[in-house]
Amino acid sequence: MCGIIGIASSKPVVSNIISSLKKLEYRGYDSAGIATFSNNFIDEIKCEGRVNKLEKICSKKTFAGIVGIGHVRWATHGIPNEINAHPHSNESVSVVHNGIIENSTILKKLLEKKGYQFKSQTDTEVITALLSENLKKNTPLVAIQKTLEKLHGSYALGILFKDNPDLIVGARRGSPLAVGYGHNENYLGSDSYALKSMTNKISYLDDGEICFLTKDNAEFYNSKGTKINKKILTLSEDTENYEKGDLIRVLDENKKIIGKGLIHFNNSEVNLIKGFKSENIEVILGYRGKDEVVHRDDFVLENY
Ligand code: GLU
Repeated sequence: MCGIIGIASSKPVVSNIISSLKKLEYRGYDSAGIATFSNNFIDEIKCEGRVNKLEKICSKKTFAGIVGIGHVRWATHGIPNEINAHPHSNESVSVVHNGIIENSTILKKLLEKKGYQFKSQTDTEVITALLSENLKKNTPLVAIQKTLEKLHGSYALGILFKDNPDLIVGARRGSPLAVGYGHNENYLGSDSYALKSMTNKISYLDDGEICFLTKDNAEFYNSKGTKINKKILTLSEDTENYEKGDLIRVLDENKKIIGKGLIHFNNSEVNLIKGFKSENIEVILGYRGKDEVVHRDDFVLENY
């Protein structure tokens, strides 16, 4: 489980990305990174360790970027270090990812045969490589559709495109992703807890959906590329009533829902709870009212 934040704005975004990453550290804290657009190139800072360290590195530099993405990692593929930290960028895209690409080894081999040279040990860099290949002949929407079709596993993604410096693209399958609406700013986040200091207007992406965000526009598409409308929710002002985490459904062997709960810890620890395997845990979204919160120590399946 990792944390994702994206901000498309008309003013520099680094300090708000760092503040949001601090709120997302409950999702992952072995490494952190950001990428922003400035002067037509992507400025990227990554480090092993926590967001405080990233903040110190960033404070030595001026970032003018008004569009950016950030990530806190909980490694699944490749040790926690600077190279494996997200974003994973190349000459055309920069990607942050929460989840696991199960067929990454096969995809890596195919891409290497085509001449792609991987820098990291992560499954995520496969997405970077596939996307840049698909962008050679396609629009960003078609390139991302073609890329997602090839991926097995789970993902929430935040993507910058070097040829579209105003744009952040988000996509999800199996990992939560929220869009927030601000004044002259729009946001992408793993949960609305990370966005709540900036907005209380939120939409949640459903599985298979893709969003295109600029500072003054948010467009949503289904997996077939058809434009869709999303409901905008207004979160309660009373922040005490809200908690951070992933709302999960627990399924039995026949995929029947047998419980729900809100978790605050990484997916491998979920496996330890009552012996459920990860394929029986379905993450719905990253934020819910307190009545639905079930903490680690008192995780109880409720009738659903
Ligand atoms: N699989 C990615 C990595 O290892 C993301 C990790 C996660 O979401 O836990 O970098």
